[in-house]
This record gives sequence, C-alpha cells and structure tokens, in this order.
Amino acid sequence: MEAEVLERINRGIILRTGAYLTNDHFIISSGRHAREYVEKRLVTTEPGFTEGLGDIIATHYGASPVDVVLTSGIGASILGHCVARAHPSRPKLLYAVKGKGREGKTEVVLPPEFFPFLFSGSSTLIVEDILTTGSTIRSLIRLVEERDGRVVGIGTLWNRSAGIKFGCPFFALVTKNFPTYLREECPLCRKGVPLNTQYGGLAGGAAPKRSRGSRRTGS
Ligand SMILES: [Zn+2]
Repeated sequence: MEAEVLERINRGIILRTGAYLTNDHFIISSGRHAREYVEKRLVTTEPGFTEGLGDIIATHYGASPVDVVLTSGIGASILGHCVARAHPSRPKLLYAVKGKGREGKTEVVLPPEFFPFLFSGSSTLIVEDILTTGSTIRSLIRLVEERDGRVVGIGTLWNRSAGIKFGCPFFALVTKNFPTYLREECPLCRKGVPLNTQYGGLAGGAAPKRSRGSRRTGS
C-alpha cells in the first residue's frame, strides 16, 4: 500500500481516539494560534486503539531483534507497553523518569532498578507518542548509549517536525505539521471564531490573554 494512503489510515485511527482535533481554534504551547491540535493525553484513552497503534509500530520493527522498549512519560509508556506486547522478540518495557542527572540538573534518567535490562550490547526500540522538538528522544538515545546499548529504531505516532534526524531508523505513523499563527495575524481571530478552552493553552478554562471580560459564574 502506498505510504500516503497508509498514513491517511493511521491519521484516521488517531482521529478516532479524539486526540486529533481539527476545524477549531486553539492556543498551542508556544502561544501561537492554530486550527488543528494534537492532544497527546487523549491518544491512549481507548485501549483498543492504543493496541492497534502499538501493533503498527511493532510490525514495522518486527524483523529487528529488540531486547528493550524504552519510553518516557505516561502516555508514551502506555503505547510502549502495547508495542512491547506485540513485538515478536517479547522485549522488556522500561521507562525513563525526570530526575537529577550527573551534574545535579533535572533531566531524563533511567531508574537504577532498570539498569540490568539495558545491558551492554542490548538492542533498544524507543517509543514516543507525539514528537515536537525531539529533545526527549535525544535524551533517551543518550541513556542507551551511556550503557553501551544500541538503538535499533524509534517509533512514534505523530511527528510534527518533518526533516528531523536522529542517526537511526525512524518511523512515524503520521508526519504532519500544521500552520500556526501569531495572534495578531490569526485568520480565526479575525473571523471571530471562539477559542477552544478545553484543549491547548486554555485547557482548564484559563482566561484568554485578551479577554473581553465576560466572566463565568460559579467557580
Ligand atoms: Zn486566533
């Protein structure tokens, strides 16, 4: 099947999880405005879909022996579980956490209890949910290399940064960025489309930066 068709199918699955939101008006984390948004917390709410998405990544790397699936973060770890479960090598699932690094800085570290599984010469598949800057994946690659392991590949659901390179095989179910606008140049603001306050930078009902003062009643 053509890659483009396959990607459209994958995007359809993610759309069905409710994580891919379109035709709306969001403030994204950078403060810019956008018509589309990927809410990674919603990607793993439906276990059947998560398992299906995990299967696709596991199948993509099915021919590579994998000792360890390595993730970071709750959403990516739920997905990573599904990838590890579906991979024919029956790899272990390990997750990195935020902690104090060697120089006392907060960074992504591997809990020492996992050290025996990430041994010298081991093969690791890194799994991430949504890739925006690639900094988490770079930290995970470093953790593997520090323990003389080998990264056999990276699997992710959604890559928002086409052209990003990591020096090892990389697979994304969907590679798509979407246009974002400065508030002053946002066509949706110009049309008066109300901002979505449930997802994105206004999640939790924080007041928009240029509120017109229509206060909500109640708390
Ligand atoms: Zn706007």
